Amino acid sequence: MAIEQTFSIIKPDATRRNITGKINAIIEATGLRIVAQKRIHMTLAQAQQFYAVHRERPFFGELTEFMASAPVVVQVLQGENAVAKYREVMGATNPANAAPGTIRKECALSVGENSVHGSDSLDNAKIEIAHFFGGIEIVG
Ligand code: ATP
Ligand code: MG
Repeated sequence: MAIEQTFSIIKPDATRRNITGKINAIIEATGLRIVAQKRIHMTLAQAQQFYAVHRERPFFGELTEFMASAPVVVQVLQGENAVAKYREVMGATNPANAAPGTIRKECALSVGENSVHGSDSLDNAKIEIAHFFGGIEIVG
């Protein structure tokens, strides 16, 4: 399988509780490598742009205000099959449905405050990484 990169965000509920290290440890235990990360505070406009695909959904206002409510850590994760693997490690969107050992089961507070984002396709991963990091070379 090919080495891929995926894009991750550690969301405000997790940065507020100072558990980014706990989440990174779960990520690294799966074999994925954190090859870039930085802490940023999204504006409401940036959050609205990032989640624009959900703009018609009833939770859009709540979601974007939450994402802009405190700093987040944006990351590039690298490894075999990284996009699908990270979705698996994150667990279901609603932590009540997430499998034991997943980040959302172990860390999330609710379906809204669910600790992490991960790209849902390789195409979106490339777009999201380019947007936040301007592209990161794969160096193994
Ligand atoms: P993400 O895109 O953040 O990786 P996801 O792909 O698992 O999460 P999406 O359906 O894309 O889930 O929803 C995006 C985000 O919107 C969720 O992670 C969650 O924070 C929020 N969200 C989704 N459904 C609800 C809901 N019913 N109520 C409140 N917030 C929600
Ligand atoms: Mg999504």
